[in-house]
Amino acid sequence: MLTQIKGLHHVTSMAADARTNNQFFTDTLGLRRVKKTVNFDSPDVYHLYYGDETGAPGTVMTYFPFPDMGRGRPGTGEIGTTVFSVPEGSLGFWNDRLSKRGVTGLKAETFGEKRLNFAGPDGDGFALVEVRDDNRPVWTANGVSKDHAIRGFHSVAMRLRDEGATAELLKFMGYKTLESRDGVTRLIVPGGNGAGIVDLETMPTIQRGLQGAGSVHHVAFSVENREKQLDVRKALMDTGYHVTPVIDRDYFWAIYFRTPGGVLFEIATNEPGFDRDEDTAHLGEALKLPQQHKHLRPILEQHLQKLED
Ligand code: ZN
Repeated sequence: MLTQIKGLHHVTSMAADARTNNQFFTDTLGLRRVKKTVNFDSPDVYHLYYGDETGAPGTVMTYFPFPDMGRGRPGTGEIGTTVFSVPEGSLGFWNDRLSKRGVTGLKAETFGEKRLNFAGPDGDGFALVEVRDDNRPVWTANGVSKDHAIRGFHSVAMRLRDEGATAELLKFMGYKTLESRDGVTRLIVPGGNGAGIVDLETMPTIQRGLQGAGSVHHVAFSVENREKQLDVRKALMDTGYHVTPVIDRDYFWAIYFRTPGGVLFEIATNEPGFDRDEDTAHLGEALKLPQQHKHLRPILEQHLQKLED
């Protein structure tokens, strides 16, 4: 069993409109945009990162806004809900704020924990969960105070036709079963970074999801450094997984593999981080380009949609 994985690192999804996406995460949810860059494979598409002040692992929601992309069809084999941690007693504030802003899918639940479900701009499945004593540092902006602000991820929920092989994989990755009820198995990684929970939802009769705007593309798990990442890579390959070589993503190093339930997993390093190419005080303000796309700057600056006025 592995001990190098410390919880979620980031969640990456797709969107249909960059400006709407940016407004939702920075203005409505009060997260900080920590990086404005482009997709390595399609440099005419943004890659936007939202998180806490520094973009700490376990706080970072990232998006590829493909202009006018059609919506995904939710189903199995994907992340159904991405869940953020908020302070105890804050869900009333969030219910008011989200409903005033026309956010859809609002539904409060108490299921061992107080939770508010809501939909993102492309129908993305999100929830806020009240967590006592989540002491992660907080970013406050746009009218969201310290008493209400998102602390980072709480968990992701995967929709699976059969949870068995994915549960086994997560246990191999260092997770332990916390509880099982009503078709949901909750796993947690001991000593995690605050984003240590994964829920597995078994839906044997639901067809496979089709990816599009509002779908999660992949979920990334956090390891401290490249050495630990290589240990994880070797262990996964020895177990029979097809894992990519290590890929430099400028702000972390990444490896990817497809899980038995169909979800794409990434293992990402905490190094070097988002302050690699700009000061923490100004993260996310300037357009940053990967080395191989730097020559495209004049055309991209003209072509990419303005995120704000
Ligand atoms: Zn990723």
